[in-house]
Formats: sequence, structure tokens, C-alpha cells
Amino acid sequence: MKYGGLPDRNEQVLRNRPSGAPARPRLSSGRGARLHVIRVLCARCKEEGGDRNRVPVWKYEMGFTDHELKGNLMYDLLVIGAGPAGISMAVEARHAGVKSEKILLIEKTSEHSFSLKKYYPDSKLVTANYKGFEAVCTGVMCIPDLTKHETITYLDVAIKENGIAAHYSETVHRIDKHGHEQRFTVYTDRGVYETRVIAISIGILGKPNKPEYRIPPLLKERILFDLTTKEIGGSKVLVVGGGDSASEYCQYLIQRGNLVTLSYRKREFARMNDINRQSLLALAERSQAVIYYGSNITRLVDAHGKPEVHFAEPGFPPEIFDYIVYALGGTTPHNFLKMIGIEFNGDEPALKEGHETNVAGMFLIGDLSAGPKGGSIIWAFNSANTAIRKICQDYLVDKRALP
Ligand SMILES: Cc1cc2nc3c(=O)[nH]c(=O)nc-3n(C[C@H](O)[C@H](O)[C@H](O)COP(=O)(O)OP(=O)(O)OC[C@H]3O[C@@H](n4cnc5c(N)ncnc54)[C@H](O)[C@@H]3O)c2cc1C
Repeated sequence: MKYGGLPDRNEQVLRNRPSGAPARPRLSSGRGARLHVIRVLCARCKEEGGDRNRVPVWKYEMGFTDHELKGNLMYDLLVIGAGPAGISMAVEARHAGVKSEKILLIEKTSEHSFSLKKYYPDSKLVTANYKGFEAVCTGVMCIPDLTKHETITYLDVAIKENGIAAHYSETVHRIDKHGHEQRFTVYTDRGVYETRVIAISIGILGKPNKPEYRIPPLLKERILFDLTTKEIGGSKVLVVGGGDSASEYCQYLIQRGNLVTLSYRKREFARMNDINRQSLLALAERSQAVIYYGSNITRLVDAHGKPEVHFAEPGFPPEIFDYIVYALGGTTPHNFLKMIGIEFNGDEPALKEGHETNVAGMFLIGDLSAGPKGGSIIWAFNSANTAIRKICQDYLVDKRALP
């Protein structure tokens, strides 16, 4: 039986799925017993009568009391951000026994997995061991190496088959925690929701990292931070960065007949997985790519509409390119996280066991929990599994029902 366009290698697992059970895209080995415990625990989660319809903002403003809202609309889990982390968070909750009407996924763009759709080149191989992370899955969701299309289909099917309610094109503005009561009120541009637990999975790619030097405004069209907004072919392109994305961008651009140079500030690629490093080095060996190791760009000059790149090192004279593509990763959305009360430890959010923040019942998962190295899809899946264990243990179990 085929599972919504998933490649055959996943069929074995799916075939064993009992009819009517939520989809289990792929289980990793050796975790059945632990998952069973979580399911049993969460199956005892105290259920409250609920209505899934949101309360429109105007009703809130017209004086609905906290009590009225509380009685009607209490989600067990509200997830913000529908990327790999947010989707797997909702799926993990379903598999732990939380009813679908008690879970809400809110995404600010009009579709799920926006970062993958925007930043992954179409022909990209999505690698399971991205950034050298071990490709070992601890939770319900797992991927092998897949195409971009297969990866997005996998996430799409996971939402549909698990009955996850997702609100798209909706942005969260404010989150209030109610004193010592385990309850949050979440305000968006379209409604107000009550929930016991919140998982934030908005990633770090909303604002791609930009260079410190100024980009002349007239060059804007020639400076890119992804490869999906503009099709580039037969051009001279400078890629800036030294991680997996930089290597993949080079490979993609070379396939499209571009002359590619990579500028990296370090002397060797320590952050790439083996496949990407070897592919890039092979391209350089065949003179299909030029690598400027140990090069630091100091400024860009507008040379008749094209970027002229100046380097700090005298060994790299100024050079004109048709396009520059930056692959510098993204930034933790400090302002949003601080606004909702999350404390930081230096540059990173301070996280406790199960990726819980200082705000009890509020969790950060996916790239937001991965630290300065950044995350991967399997990291995102695993972080959701780690979080659901803590959520079930501390928040969703009716402790009175336990023996
Ligand atoms: C070019 C590139 C190539 C990569 N290749 C690989 C690879 O081959 N293999 C791999 O494992 N990993 C890869 N990664 C990394 C991987 O994409 C990320 O680690 C993963 O997407 C993180 O998932 P996430 O759910 O935490 O965040 P994201 O995927 O960034 O998802 C966040 C979601 O939240 C939404 N959102 C943002 N702000 C808000 C808000 N305020 N309210 C509501 N929704 C919001 C976004 O629109 C988005 O849909 C790559 C990354 C890049 C940039």
C-alpha cells in the first residue's frame, strides 16, 4: 500500500499499520515500549468539553470573560509554526493519545513547511544526516535521504492522516500566561485561543542572516538569500558560506550552467556532511567550481548594476559577479521569544529538560532548540518526541487517574 506518494522504502512500516489508527510514517527501532508507556499515560489525559472554533478577536474585545472563554475553548496543545518540528509535535501528541480536536497548529504563511519550499532548490537531495547529525530517529516521524518533493509529501500526509487541524495565514501577536494556573491565552490576527501547553516551532529561517557590510540598494535584485525566488542560469555567481547549504547551492547552480565561486572565511569545511564536502571538492577538482578559502568580503560596490566584491585579503583582488547568493543560515527570533517571556542564556534561549523554557508549559522545538550549530529535519522530529514525553508527564496526565 502506498502512503501518499512516499517512496517504496517506507512501505514496509506502513503496511503494518492497523486500519483506523493514526498514520505512523516510519518508526525507528527500539522505542516501542517507551512509546507505549507514553500512550498509556496520555490516554488518561483529562479531557474537557471543547469547541474547536476559534473565538474571533471582536468577541474578545466585546467583553467575553476569561471564564467564558475558558469553559469553551481549551486546547491541550497549541503549536506555533508548521515546519518539520511543528508538524511532528502535533503527530507525536496524536500518537501519545491526545485527541485531534485538542491540538491546534498555527502557521503564519499560507502553507506548511514554508522554509523547505522557499530555501530548498527543487532538485535538492534532502539528506537525513544534514550538518553531520546522526540520522537516528527517536520518535514517530523519520526520513531517509529523500527528494524535496518526497519530503514535503511526507509532511503533508502526516498532517492529513493524523487529522491535525492547521490554521494557515495566521500570526500570533501575544501570549498571556495565567498566573499559577496552567493556561495560556494566545492572541492572533484572527482569533483568541486557550491552551494548556504551547510548543513554539517557528525555526530560524524567517530572517536569513545577512552580511555586516552594506548592500547597495540598486544591487538588491542581484543579491539572493535563497534559490527559489529567481532562476539563475549561464551567469557568474558568488556563493558565500561554508555549510551544507552553501555546498548544495554550488552544486545546484553548476547544474544550471553557471560559473560558480564559493567564498568561505575558514580554511576547511568543518560544518558540512561528508556527501556535500566530497561533492564540492570533486567539483573544484574538475575546475567546475572555484573555492576562495580564507576569504572575507569587506564591501560590495555597484559596478554598472553588478556587484563588485572587495575582499580583506590582498590575494583576492576585487571581482565583479552577476549574482551573489548568501547561505549564512538564520537567526533565532529573539524579539518574539523575549516578548512572550522566554529567558535567554547569552544568545540562545535557556531550555530545561524536554526543551521546556522558563515559562512552565511552553516548549521550544526544532531549530529553536538546536543551539548555535542549527538543526536538521531529524533533529526537529526528535525534539518533538523529547518534548511530548515531558508534556505528557507534567501537563497532560490527569494525575488523579494514575495508580
Ligand atoms: C538551504 C537549506 C538546506 C537544508 N537542507 C537540509 C537537509 O538536506 N536535511 C535536513 O535534515 N535539514 C536541512 N536543512 C535544515 C532544515 O530545513 C531545518 O533544520 C528544519 O526545517 C527546521 O525545522 P523547524 O520546523 O524547526 O523550522 P522551519 O522548517 O523553519 O519551520 C518553521 C515554520 O514556522 C513558520 N513560522 C515562522 N514564524 C512564525 C510565526 N510567528 N507564527 C507562525 N508560524 C511561523 C514558518 O513559516 C515555517 O513554516 C536545510 C536548511 C536550509 C536553509
